[in-house]
Amino acid sequence: MGNSFSQRTGGKALLAAAVLGVLVAGSSLAAQPPRRAAPAAQPPAQPDFSAVQVRSKHVKGNIWVLQGAGGNVTVQIGDEGVLLVDTQYAQMGEKIIAEVRKLAGNKPLRFILNTHAHEDHIGGNYAVGKYGSKVFGGNERNDNPEGMKGATMIAHENVQFNLLRAEGTPQETAKANWPTEYYTGEKYEIYFNGEGIELLHQPTAHTDADTFVFFRSSDVVSAGDIWNANGYPFIDVARGGHINGIIAGLNKLVDIAIPDINEEGGTMIIPGHGRVGDESDVFDYRDMITIIRNRIQSMVAKGMTIEQVKAARPTLDYDGRYGSTTGFWTTDMFIETVYKQLKEAANGGGGR
Ligand SMILES: [Zn+2]
Repeated sequence: MGNSFSQRTGGKALLAAAVLGVLVAGSSLAAQPPRRAAPAAQPPAQPDFSAVQVRSKHVKGNIWVLQGAGGNVTVQIGDEGVLLVDTQYAQMGEKIIAEVRKLAGNKPLRFILNTHAHEDHIGGNYAVGKYGSKVFGGNERNDNPEGMKGATMIAHENVQFNLLRAEGTPQETAKANWPTEYYTGEKYEIYFNGEGIELLHQPTAHTDADTFVFFRSSDVVSAGDIWNANGYPFIDVARGGHINGIIAGLNKLVDIAIPDINEEGGTMIIPGHGRVGDESDVFDYRDMITIIRNRIQSMVAKGMTIEQVKAARPTLDYDGRYGSTTGFWTTDMFIETVYKQLKEAANGGGGR
């Protein structure tokens, strides 16, 4: 996130401040967890956006997925308007809105839900959300038209802590992109476009702020980065991520999903990155991550050093499809992080 965007939008942070913390009952900044040590790995640097096209695909029911640069965007369209899950980067905002309008016409954008605080999922919140407007609540009146501008943006309260902690660092997110409301606890529910939508917090997984968004009637789950269909899951240790939480999250996805009778289709799951899949795809991914975790676990139990573990290639049979020797999250970094976390757990610290 360069300074130019912060400055350009900094004066227009109409979304962030007014209703900040509306859902945060009883939480205070004093209650946030202690600052963690500087991370070894950071979320991906921003790509060149000029050549990126946004493509959309119908998933099931009221749900479409948009792919461009950064995380997948989930789109729910119905009589009441449009709801998005995640928004990619600020630079993608105009292209995302153009594609949403292709699908939804002039239906109003009402909600943006965020699966977590990474820039490739939250960076477009303002650039997209400024085209939206809020829904009137039961007894609310339009006393403050300014306050109704922009979509309502909702995430787990830990997203706020992540954003606060990143202030003043290169991972800082412009204030205008910060959610306008935060939910606490394990679950939050909204009803929109004739369907129940569950926001399910997954603790200490990809980060400590991950949310699954489950569209109950459409039968689709937007999983965020707990499922990265393009690679091994990024464990953001600095933001409270843990390998065991990722596996717990993948188990939860398998739990929610119901396959069609021929084992294909049924509940559809939208990963944070990569192709949409069904239960069997998540099942295979969950098994792979569990097998790798268990292999490294037994190596830790044998007292092997990280050099010995890497030499033993615990991911070898999956590296062809998921491995990486370049980029912000290499196979070596994945193995090192899992090793460190399991070793900490074996020594009575860290783990879940
Ligand atoms: Zn992420």
